[in-house]
Amino acid sequence: MTTTYGFWLAGRQETGPETFDVRHPYDDSLVGTVAIASDAQVEEAVAAAYAVKDEFAATPAYQRAAALDHVAKRLTERAEELAQLITRENGKPIKWARGEIGRAASVFRWAAEEARRFNSGEGQRLDTDAGGTGRLALVRRFNRGVVLGIAPFNFPLNLVAHKVAPAIAVGAPIILKPAPATPISAIVLGEILAETDLPAGSWSVLTVPNDRMPALVQDPRLPVISFTGSDKVGYSILDSVPRKHVTLELGGNAAAVVLADWSSEEDLEWAATRIATFANYQGGQSCISVQRVIADASVYDRLVEKVVAKVSAQVTGDPTDDAVDVGPLVSEDAAKRVESWVDEAVAAGAQLLTGGKREGASYAPTVLSELPGGVTLATEEVFGPVLTIQKVDGTDAAFAAVNDSKFGLQAGVFTHDVQTAFRAHRELEVGGVVIGDAPSYRADQMPYGGVKDSGIGREGVAYAMADYTYERVLILTGL
Ligand code: NAD
Repeated sequence: MTTTYGFWLAGRQETGPETFDVRHPYDDSLVGTVAIASDAQVEEAVAAAYAVKDEFAATPAYQRAAALDHVAKRLTERAEELAQLITRENGKPIKWARGEIGRAASVFRWAAEEARRFNSGEGQRLDTDAGGTGRLALVRRFNRGVVLGIAPFNFPLNLVAHKVAPAIAVGAPIILKPAPATPISAIVLGEILAETDLPAGSWSVLTVPNDRMPALVQDPRLPVISFTGSDKVGYSILDSVPRKHVTLELGGNAAAVVLADWSSEEDLEWAATRIATFANYQGGQSCISVQRVIADASVYDRLVEKVVAKVSAQVTGDPTDDAVDVGPLVSEDAAKRVESWVDEAVAAGAQLLTGGKREGASYAPTVLSELPGGVTLATEEVFGPVLTIQKVDGTDAAFAAVNDSKFGLQAGVFTHDVQTAFRAHRELEVGGVVIGDAPSYRADQMPYGGVKDSGIGREGVAYAMADYTYERVLILTGL
């Protein structure tokens, strides 16, 4: 039996005559049919959010924190059901889907804690020059207004959590638009939000086709846009609304650097394990998946041998199976795109060390070396289970190679040397540097985001809360 999922309009579940199907990428089976919000329904949700914004901002912190704690608890209680759902709609292996639910619950838990301590106010003395004598400033944060959150398919629950939880924490209404491939987990989150006493209108989960998104993006009642997705769509949004407050969490082609001092058997075993795992763990569909390995010539051969062995040993297949490491991509079209990029690179002279085969939406975990410059794989985000390995001489060349990219999200540097770690922090043009591990580590409370074409602004619960608000100063005179 299939279910038709209604979207959430101002806290209540609605359907409509238009629907679309969500299919499991592994075998094309139907996961569910989802109702599409009509223009009138979208208008109702936006009007309700706009109407409730002052009331929601005035809600006491303890009430917002209680709602957030409730969501965290219910996500934990419904974890297995949600993990199975994410695997079915997204195709990611069940073990990674389970991890995603735990992270989403912790995002709501963090948001509850941050809501309790947010905006206590910061005093500033002004009598540091004569004009400020007898004056005191109090800095507090106020909401920019209703948030439009636009989410990608690759973490269908956790990246939705990163938009919704901080909005509730600051009392800003949110209109959430999940990705068309993976809307159902966000709709189930709506069931949980509906159990709270958050004001009607303070949240909606709307399914809106991409071609109808420009009207929503341009709606003046939605001054804040928090977008996670591709650079192409992200920058087109920014260009269309240059005066709005827009956060862009975009793509990358993250590098893992293995330096000469990371050379013992144990070192290389660890680096190869982490690189192989985080190149392919969601079919390579994470914005900080390892795409580029940059290895010092002194460790290159041993590292390549280990990485290729580990990638070749990864278990591929049905993502609902606990033993599977690498499932399908989100769609057959995505796998065909990856296939065409690898074929282009091989035709131009790249060495295929393992993989390079497609079956439906599944693409075999692939390692390439000697990638010629100028091919698509060398400059774009592959967003698939494909890794390239490059040999360099020394740290200068390694760091230059990392920075030779239009993207800058995170980088991993395998080194034992503390000076090199600080140098990496200073010199690498990215939003985060991970020492001793792959670039793919993210803790949900830390500031997360990119530079260059990887985006603008930061997520991470407290950082998104800061982003949804602005400082307003109260200056007291005559004290
Ligand atoms: P996408 O850009 O195709 O879609 C993202 C969202 O934008 C979807 O909800 C989509 O429906 C919506 N959208 C599409 N056209 C739109 C338009 N004209 N106006 C408004 N919204 C529109 O991205 P995707 O394929 O879902 O996700 C993959 C991308 O996301 C990759 O590039 C990945 O690196 C990036 N990503 C970045 C982060 C990060 O935090 N930096 C995290 C995860 C994914």
